[in-house]
Amino acid sequence: MAGEQLVPTGAARSGLPTLGRTTPAADKETTMEAPVLSTPATAISAEQENNPWLAQAARFDEAARRLNLDAGLWKVLRFPSREIIVHIPVSMDDGSVEVFTGYRVQHSISRGPCKGGIRYSPDVSLDEVRALASWMTWKCAVVNIPFGGAKGGVICDPKTMSQGELERMTRRYTAALIEFIGPEKDVPAPDMGTNEQTMAWVMDTYSMHMGQTMTSVVTGKPVSLGGSRGRREATGRGISVVVDQALKHLNMVPAETTVIVQGFGNVGSNAAKLLWEKGYKIIGIGEFDGALHNPNGIDISELLQHRARTGSIHKFAGASAFDKDTLLTQPCDVLIPAATENVITSRNAHQLQCRILCEGANGPTTPLADDILGEKGVFIIPDILANAGGVTTSYFEWVQDRMGYFWTEDEVNQRLDRIMMDSFTDVLQYAIAHDVNNRIAAYMLAIDRVAHTTRQRGIYA
Ligand code: GLU
Repeated sequence: MAGEQLVPTGAARSGLPTLGRTTPAADKETTMEAPVLSTPATAISAEQENNPWLAQAARFDEAARRLNLDAGLWKVLRFPSREIIVHIPVSMDDGSVEVFTGYRVQHSISRGPCKGGIRYSPDVSLDEVRALASWMTWKCAVVNIPFGGAKGGVICDPKTMSQGELERMTRRYTAALIEFIGPEKDVPAPDMGTNEQTMAWVMDTYSMHMGQTMTSVVTGKPVSLGGSRGRREATGRGISVVVDQALKHLNMVPAETTVIVQGFGNVGSNAAKLLWEKGYKIIGIGEFDGALHNPNGIDISELLQHRARTGSIHKFAGASAFDKDTLLTQPCDVLIPAATENVITSRNAHQLQCRILCEGANGPTTPLADDILGEKGVFIIPDILANAGGVTTSYFEWVQDRMGYFWTEDEVNQRLDRIMMDSFTDVLQYAIAHDVNNRIAAYMLAIDRVAHTTRQRGIYA
């Protein structure tokens, strides 16, 4: 079996691959040397449960084992190909200079240029960016678009920074990465804490260095700067399409389906709005600082207007205030975590009462929680399928920028819907054919596609 060949000297402790044949002392502390997992969930301890890199690796190993991936490819695909760390000085508004730490992890270029967002958050860590970069590779492969995966992050709190500080930090971060990004190299996009304005600054900084306007270096830009129509809503739209497909599969109908959405940012709010427009009953909305609940359904259009007026979802007349932590475990048909990683863990998975879990966020469910949800029979639409609508429309944006010819919103949406429906079917067929859950099926489908191109290209080793 492939896994048994994967024990180079020094890796006996973990029983699975480490990098290289020797273990240099200085590397011993890095997470690349951390226990690697042969049997995912059972090999992860409760303390390790919240490490997204280990969570990603656990699913990868399980899928690779089921695919009988050979030892060399297993190692090639398991580890990111490049990890860039930058410490960037930024002039703050009070005249001081602050230094921020940023990352860009490029996991794979096997199927095309790297693709993936930039996250601004105090919680960014190298392990998180590694996991997110790998997820981008698998996500792009699940929806079969010609990109590899990458992710960037800067440790900062964008909520406390001025527009000027954010602009200077973004430009300096872009400048520090200038030789590693580009339309044919690595194409960033928005993620948590970044938006269309951030992407406009990335595009402008890159263009200034190149001496020409190069819109296709980044996606998720404003439409007036080469952005794609429909990109802003794309992740939410993709979620609404796969939820529709899950309902058909399970013989359910929207009008009798209750939904709870955790996170009312770009992803959660657009998913909630589109599902509400299709007739789903949205009974709960959670935010980082509170939640709303109404068993008779929340009018999402009114809630969006209320938020635009008041700046938050609180004190909305159309629902009662609710505890944000217990919202996830309230009875509903569809639960959509659309905020951040590790919100469904071994601690609360037992209490979940949903029939369908559709992962709008990246990595919201830990491997230990997966096992519990599997026993409960929850139908999971895994993140690398569920939230792939964003990067799919990013792909359309990159294509349109390179053509210099822009599609109507209808054209974008029709193409997106088709890809999301086909990908849902592909994952489900894989799950049935290999008798695995939807998450492992999505990983197997993705790894199989990336392994195929890697074999075709040959390993330059
Ligand atoms: N940040 C988004 C994601 O996690 C979008 C990435 C992109 O469009 O490149 O999928």
